[in-house]
Amino acid sequence: MEQYEFLGDCMTLQEIIDESRRIVFFGGAGVSTESGIPDFRSQDGLYHQRFDYPPEEILSHSFFEKHTEYFYRFYREKLLVEGAEPNAAHRKLAELEKAGKLSAVVTQNIDGLHQMAGSKNVFELHGAVSRNYCTKCGAFYNADYIRNSEGVPRCTCGGIIKPDVVLYEEPLNEETCYGAMRAIAEADCLIVAGTSLTVYPAASYIRYFRGKHFVLINRDKTPADSYADLVLHGKVGEILSAIEVKQ
Ligand code: NAD
Repeated sequence: MEQYEFLGDCMTLQEIIDESRRIVFFGGAGVSTESGIPDFRSQDGLYHQRFDYPPEEILSHSFFEKHTEYFYRFYREKLLVEGAEPNAAHRKLAELEKAGKLSAVVTQNIDGLHQMAGSKNVFELHGAVSRNYCTKCGAFYNADYIRNSEGVPRCTCGGIIKPDVVLYEEPLNEETCYGAMRAIAEADCLIVAGTSLTVYPAASYIRYFRGKHFVLINRDKTPADSYADLVLHGKVGEILSAIEVKQ
């Protein structure tokens, strides 16, 4: 168990969760590191590993168009992690939603682990690896099809299949963004966790929060630490697993 750094002088996380009725959880890649999926910006994250091109470039729309085969090599190895299971953070959030305490999860992740843990109202700002579409005819393919194919995955019509994930240079889905912003604006408690808050526009959505308690849980410092009522520097799975869910 890590040593947590508690900043702020107010209530504990348990007290805040006890008194809140419309919690929104806003998370990023750090929520899934305890499930074995590497994030981008931690010391052991993908941005600190060596590839032929910088990961930001590989995960861009123009790179996908120009170097589709290389994109898929990186994507299969680093983002389509086989056998990843929800961790304590995903499970606790699903439990909070079931108890009527949490109204939405807004995630920058594309791994689908919140839904696998049982969360229902999930706004996936950057899409999901589970959905893949032919760029020619629009036919749907699941993640296993991509995982088990070789080179550039192709549709039966011959078209190239593209994952329904938002690459750099691509716009976010308007409806998803609107739903996420609305949920955050209506929340009485916002828990931001496992994100460096450096990917825009997603990171800007936390500014819509008008509620009472703004909690930040992250291993490293973030640009929003100074605005939060409670900052916990530690592992989100460990911290949330200690929470008791009361109706
Ligand atoms: P990021 O890599 O920029 O930052 C992750 C943050 O999480 C870091 O500040 C790190 O200190 C923190 N962190 C790591 N493990 C943690 C833990 N166990 N508990 C608490 N904090 C922890 O991630 P980001 O801000 O989400 O932005 C990266 C982008 O990459 C996002 O758009 C995301 O969609 C995408 N991405 C997604 C996945 C995934 O779906 N699992 C994985 C990698 C990257």
